[in-house]
Amino acid sequence: MSFKLEECVYRGEGKFCISDYPTSVEVDKGEKEKYVQLTEENTARMAELQDKLYAEAKEGVVILIQAMDAAGKDSTIKHVMSGVNPQGCVVHSFKQPSHEELAHSFLWRAMMHMPQRGYLGVFNRSYYEDVLVVRVHDLQRGYAMPSRCIDMDSGKFFEKRYRQISDFEEYLWENGYRVVKIFLNEGKEEQAKRFLARIEDESKNWKFSEADMKERALWDEYQKAYEKAIGSTASKHAPWYVIPADQKWFARYLVSEAIVGVLKDIDPRYPEMPADQKAHLASCKQQLEQGA
Ligand code: AMP
Ligand code: MG
Repeated sequence: MSFKLEECVYRGEGKFCISDYPTSVEVDKGEKEKYVQLTEENTARMAELQDKLYAEAKEGVVILIQAMDAAGKDSTIKHVMSGVNPQGCVVHSFKQPSHEELAHSFLWRAMMHMPQRGYLGVFNRSYYEDVLVVRVHDLQRGYAMPSRCIDMDSGKFFEKRYRQISDFEEYLWENGYRVVKIFLNEGKEEQAKRFLARIEDESKNWKFSEADMKERALWDEYQKAYEKAIGSTASKHAPWYVIPADQKWFARYLVSEAIVGVLKDIDPRYPEMPADQKAHLASCKQQLEQGA
């Protein structure tokens, strides 16, 4: 297989068509082991780089994962993050907004959960829900906001939100953050298979709800909303990774490639001791060796 991460990166150049991006790639059975091994190597590399990121504490990273139900958000987070030090990592799942969250502007809760610089933050769903589920269900119509904010064609309302999101991500970039935006691109047939597995396996029943069927019925609307959101918010500094997600092991490999790529680009280093402090360390060493 010769599919490379670069083929699924969209940096905002040219028009974005979701149908140009595969949900599945041709896989030779014999190759699976090789990619599982490469993912493990990436996981180890990620741990090394995270240690330096934490020590240096100059730049923060947000790994943001969006997808349809059962595309593998939770398991990707579990596997890809398995090597990182929990101290230095924060994970937040974006659920239906609380009253308090809805009483604020939509980026407020994202800001509340931003990692500090030096940390890896994982967003399981994100502020993109505010242009996805909100768009598909026209939820903004019910928001308590002045008419100048919501009484307009919904296309126009979401154009404004895409701009606000792009500005927010540029703001983060200019303040020492990277946002790694991952869309786990799952096929509709694969979702049906995974839903069936969740129904048939009792230990997975808890992962399935009737609401999932209702959202599935809106598949095409969601695809359009993703197409618009990705097409309007990808940029050089905050590209989208549109990851074929039908083979979980291959999706995990690509996600690990994306994260390692960004960490390498940051190139974090352990802080170097100034000469006078080094001399002080040498003196402490001598004292300890002499039994102090
Ligand atoms: P899950 O990820 O399966 O636990 O479900 C979380 C649910 O919260 C999903 O159905 C999301 O679409 C929903 N959700 C997340 N953010 C928002 C939002 N801003 N407005 C409405 N629903 C949201
Ligand atoms: Mg769900």
